[in-house]
Amino acid sequence: MKRTIVAIVLLVAGMSGIMSVDAKYYDASASEVYVCTGKYAKKYHNDYECKGLQKCSAEIITLTVEEAEKRGYTKCKICY
Ligand SMILES: [Zn+2]
Repeated sequence: MKRTIVAIVLLVAGMSGIMSVDAKYYDASASEVYVCTGKYAKKYHNDYECKGLQKCSAEIITLTVEEAEKRGYTKCKICY
């Protein structure tokens, strides 16, 4: 009986391990941000539907946060 419990505990631990890997993968994709390529756009956005982004008359591209900051964009106050 004890062995069965140990096996279940190990199984649950293993499953949560897999889930935390999934969560990491999700975080990595969530670090992509939306940037308006218009002349006056200075912000990067977390939300594609953001009001600030809807004012964009140019192309909207996705970048990683690192890349967006490298290009001089700062966090949007509306969606962050
Ligand atoms: Zn925004």
